[in-house]
Amino acid sequence: MRKLLSFALAFVTFVCLCAPTQFIVGSHAQSDAQTAQRLADRAIGQTPLMNDLRELCDQIGGRPTGSPACERAVEWGAAKFRAAGVADVKLEPFTVPNLWLGQTAAAECIAPEHFTVRLAAAPYSPSTPTNRPLEARVVLVGDGSPEAFAKLGARVRGAIALVTSDEMKTLDDLFAEYLRNTSMVEAARKAQVAALLLQSTRPRGLLYRHPISFVAQPVPMPVAIVSREHAARLARLAERSDVRVRLNLSNKTGGAYQARNVIAEIRGRERPDEVVLLGAHLDSWDLGTGAQDNGVNAALVIDVARAIKQLHLRPRRTIRFALFTGEEQGMFGSAGYVRSHANELDKHVAVVIFDIGSGRTTGFFLNGREELRRPVEMALRSCKWLNISANPLDGIDGTDNYDFLLSGVPNLVANQDPLPYLPDYHAESDVFDMVNAQEAKRNAGLAAALVWSLADTNAPLPPRQTRAEVEQLLKATKLDEQMRAFDQWTDWETHRRGISR
Ligand SMILES: [Zn+2]
Repeated sequence: MRKLLSFALAFVTFVCLCAPTQFIVGSHAQSDAQTAQRLADRAIGQTPLMNDLRELCDQIGGRPTGSPACERAVEWGAAKFRAAGVADVKLEPFTVPNLWLGQTAAAECIAPEHFTVRLAAAPYSPSTPTNRPLEARVVLVGDGSPEAFAKLGARVRGAIALVTSDEMKTLDDLFAEYLRNTSMVEAARKAQVAALLLQSTRPRGLLYRHPISFVAQPVPMPVAIVSREHAARLARLAERSDVRVRLNLSNKTGGAYQARNVIAEIRGRERPDEVVLLGAHLDSWDLGTGAQDNGVNAALVIDVARAIKQLHLRPRRTIRFALFTGEEQGMFGSAGYVRSHANELDKHVAVVIFDIGSGRTTGFFLNGREELRRPVEMALRSCKWLNISANPLDGIDGTDNYDFLLSGVPNLVANQDPLPYLPDYHAESDVFDMVNAQEAKRNAGLAAALVWSLADTNAPLPPRQTRAEVEQLLKATKLDEQMRAFDQWTDWETHRRGISR
């Protein structure tokens, strides 16, 4: 008992000692935690999130940036925010360097056997000549590495080069498929191939959009993803005989064009110039209806705004909701936001991005900023049932946190289970049915609790980094290596993207 008594006493003493702040912080932290809990609890109840997603997928469908469907989605998103009671909604324009929209893709093996070859053009692949189909012999180029091309020498000139692939099983496999792009295209260009056919890494005929450029720049030869089984048949035939293929790709291409982001905000009651941004990209590829990538998280962002309005909450800082487009082309929507809001970035205290479908969120990637760990843990400690455990320090390149990271703004990416997401990634099968409603709603609860707590906490949050600090972070997280492999380093070096001072 005494012990208890003495402990209690000690505790009360402690409280009294730092009454002013502790008590306020205490009571504020409590109300903060309660609000976070209310937001999280609301999200797993009856909400319109999945109905919104059904509308987006089934009524608007696949919505590549630059397409009429994407324009419809932007209007749809703005209307959803307004219907949720968010008055301040803007459509902010930005520029995408080059237009690319897939139209038709057809191929057939014409010798030694005749059969149809299913394939999908790779974004930023040119069309085949319109006046005549491209017909050429097929040459196997193994994994498409510069070494494989070098070994073949002149034999591959004017041919259709067929690259074989391992089946994709993990996120690392997906990254490997991207990391080979630049050197493979360069080797194919030097070898003067007529076209490049890449074996799909997904089984059972599944096709997907595999962007062959990360910076929305057209590549010098037609490139397409071929059904895994059809590519294997072509390869076996090519090992034994001369194989000829007729290829017909028709894509809509063009120069720079304008697209739009949907930006909505709930103004802060005390520090309105300080901003916490919650974002997800709204654009998708067109073979499926962009349910996992990234419709479910666009619906999540809308639902968090709706929740805060429904509970009549006004955060201390401003909360901004962003439905970016231009993401699949190279994160141009978020880059455009960073450019047009450059004079506000010092006051962007946190950016939170969701972009791994409805996979369970177990934490947040801290993108090289250890000092973000405590605010994230503090923000989510009230939501015990959310069971957040993994906040890796890794730096993420490949979604809309990227330009915020390069601009020194504290940024978080939801660390979601990729396994339910990978099989349908950019594929025909990325449709409404693939989304796990329960996990999607749990993620919405998590997002609401985190964004609310970051926007309402009295505690200071880590500052914006300088260019030198960002440069150091890029090295420490090895993002510099990835950016070089993805052709992104020059934009950083030349200050076209990222903080300049
Ligand atoms: Zn995505």
